[in-house]
Amino acid sequence: MPTAEQEIKKFERGDCKQDDVFYQAMEEVIYSIAPLLKSDEKYTKHAILERLVVPDRVIKFKVVWLNDKNEIQVNTGYRIQFNNALGPYKGGLRFHPTVNEGILKFLGFEQILKNSLTGLPIGGGKGGSDFNPKGKSDFEVMKFCTAFMTELHKYIGPRVDVPAGDIGVGGREIGYLFGEYKKITSSFEGVLTGKPFFFGGSLMRPEATGYGAVYFTEAMLETEGKEPLEGKVCTVSGAGNVALHAIEKLQQIGAITVSCTDSRGTLYDSRGVDLALLKEIKLERRASLEEYIKTHTDAKYTPVSEYPEDGHAVWEIPCYAAFPCATQNELTEIDAQNLIANGCQSVTEGANMPSTPEATAAIQGHGLCFAPAKAANAGGVAVSEFEMSQNASMAKWSFEKVDNKLRDTMQMICKRVALTAKDYGVEGNYVDGANIAGFKKVADAMIAEGI
Ligand code: NDP
Repeated sequence: MPTAEQEIKKFERGDCKQDDVFYQAMEEVIYSIAPLLKSDEKYTKHAILERLVVPDRVIKFKVVWLNDKNEIQVNTGYRIQFNNALGPYKGGLRFHPTVNEGILKFLGFEQILKNSLTGLPIGGGKGGSDFNPKGKSDFEVMKFCTAFMTELHKYIGPRVDVPAGDIGVGGREIGYLFGEYKKITSSFEGVLTGKPFFFGGSLMRPEATGYGAVYFTEAMLETEGKEPLEGKVCTVSGAGNVALHAIEKLQQIGAITVSCTDSRGTLYDSRGVDLALLKEIKLERRASLEEYIKTHTDAKYTPVSEYPEDGHAVWEIPCYAAFPCATQNELTEIDAQNLIANGCQSVTEGANMPSTPEATAAIQGHGLCFAPAKAANAGGVAVSEFEMSQNASMAKWSFEKVDNKLRDTMQMICKRVALTAKDYGVEGNYVDGANIAGFKKVADAMIAEGI
């Protein structure tokens, strides 16, 4: 039986820097699932790992559009259809200048196991473009989305591949993409999730990832015998969809959330952040967090240029629970050491892979609760699947119904992850529990479906 190190050697990364995050995600999974591979040789015999780390297909296309000055613009679009052993490919679209094939392969790979953990019939995929919606007019965003869908529509469908939002893709972008799909195909069908409610979206989809991360944390703290979040100081990074809704749910349950961040800096308000103002700044004005201190003069704003070396100001703030909800590798080893030194008890990954491997090792090594992204942020894709169900049956579920199903799903994932970790001799290790449980289900389906 090959060791985890031998398995990893099979996938030498070569010189492509773009693939670094993909290999980071893959190595974590290979180390985690070593006890599973050892317990049953069928996974090695059926070459599951070799088959799982290669996407079914990588679609790459040119997107040509006209800006408001009637100048021709060219971007690159991608859709990575990674694995559909459990259901149609499902995963978000990211519009951000840093998007490349490596980042989308990392996100798509994570998505396979995350979707598996939800227990719902969805496979894994991811897509996006290096298009930057920031600073573009609504009309430019619409023209880009239209051009993007002109190509993407050939590869997606309600039973084939159902994209959703991610960084840079919210209700506005999904609306334009859906409108173009409908125009090209003359078909009103559930081909995208995250749609606005009045034309097929699910209630609570915008809230789902942030709320779900908090539900998961509550369940994890209870399972591990730690104190609940009520009355505790929490830190959150990010100021987008996931972060704002994590803050909202934390406030609803009585926690004191004192921070958020964006790509330009960190905001710290020791009395608890003013969520209504944050929403206005980030969602309506699409402005910088620095605006906040014009209204709340005793809050503190730290620009990125003043961050500690190899670290981030937000993780220097003492807290009981931390919620990194912005982007990958935003919580480094130095950040982890600061959290530990300041008495933090729990870290929940709202973003995808926000903690570096060194940070994860330090956090787990010091006995903090650690909720990995593929379990903790699965609420978004779970409610996306609820949206697919509602679209397929032409039904509309109430907010309460979706919220209850989301809470049940997050509690179920937490239980499954904790029990799996215990079964494989790594009790309390939610990273290994999530990887083993997610992998096992996909692997068993792949074996049953043949090559
Ligand atoms: P948004 O685009 O709504 O918000 C992203 C936030 O992170 C913004 O505040 C942005 O700052 C900040 N940010 C983005 N890139 C960087 C960077 N390189 N450095 C510092 N800050 C950055 O995205 P979401 O909230 O939807 O997604 C956040 C994370 O959660 C991502 O990892 C995503 O993959 C993950 N996720 C999202 C889900 C969803 O349902 N939306 C589901 C599951 C995971 P600024 O405002 O300045 O742009």
